[in-house]
Amino acid sequence: MGLTFFSCPHCVESLGTRSGIRSNLEEIGSSWMQCPKCGAAINTGAQEWVDMHFTDKLKVWAEVYLYYGVLIGPSFAFMAWAGVTEYLHQSNLIGILAGVVAWALIMLRVHCVHKKKVADSLKRRSE
Ligand SMILES: [Zn+2]
Repeated sequence: MGLTFFSCPHCVESLGTRSGIRSNLEEIGSSWMQCPKCGAAINTGAQEWVDMHFTDKLKVWAEVYLYYGVLIGPSFAFMAWAGVTEYLHQSNLIGILAGVVAWALIMLRVHCVHKKKVADSLKRRSE
C-alpha cells in the first residue's frame, strides 16, 4: 500500500502518483506515452483492454473490486456507521444502513470508473 511516484526516466519529470498496490501508472491504456517535458517515449506498462490476457484482466478486476470492496469500502462504511451512531446519536440499525449506503456508493463509483476505462480503451482501439 501507499503512494507510488512515477517520473520520466530521462528527465525525471513527475508523471503522477498512484495509490494502492499498483506498479504501473495505468493498467488500461496505451503502452507508450510521451514525456510532457522532454518528449521521450516512455513505456507505461499499460495495455489496451483488448490486448490484455485473461489473467491480466482478472488482476485488474481483482484490484478494482477487492481493493475497494474489501479495504476502502468497509473503511468508509465504518466511518459512516461511527459518524451516524456516535455524532448523530442514531440507532445502530441506521448506522449500519448508512455504512451499507456509503459502501454501495463507493463500489458504484469504482464500477463506473472501471467501466469507463474499459470503454475508452475499446474506443481508442476501434478508432
Ligand atoms: Zn522526460
